[in-house]
Amino acid sequence: MSQRLCGICGRAIKATSRLVFIGGPNATFYIEPPVHPRCAAYALMVCPTLAAAEDVELTIARTYSLRERRMTGVSAEYTLIYDLFPYGDPAARRRGPLDFYLAFPENADRIAAKEWLAGHAPTL
Ligand SMILES: [Zn+2]
Repeated sequence: MSQRLCGICGRAIKATSRLVFIGGPNATFYIEPPVHPRCAAYALMVCPTLAAAEDVELTIARTYSLRERRMTGVSAEYTLIYDLFPYGDPAARRRGPLDFYLAFPENADRIAAKEWLAGHAPTL
C-alpha cells in the first residue's frame, strides 16, 4: 500500500489513475491494498466469495492516506486497545506493535460492486 501497488497483480497504480478498494458497505478504511479497476473486475468475477456476496461495495478514488494501527495496551477487561498513528511516525514504534496499515480513501465515490460490474467496469 505504501508504494501504491495493486493488491492483485502487484504492478504500480499510476498516480493519476483511479484505484479501487473492495470491501463491505460504508467502509471508511481498508486493510487490503487498492487494485486497478480491471483487476477489481477480474476479482469480482472469479473470486467465489466476492461473487456470492450481495453487499460488496467498491470505493473508487485517486488517492488515499495511510495510517498505522498499533496495539497500545490492554484494558482492565483484558481487551486489546489500539490507536492510530500517521504512517511512518518514528514515535509510533515505541507505542506498540504494528497491527495493520490502514488505507483511508480520499474524495472517493462508492458504488455497489454488482452495479459497477454490470455497467461501469472496464471490459476484460
Ligand atoms: Zn492490478
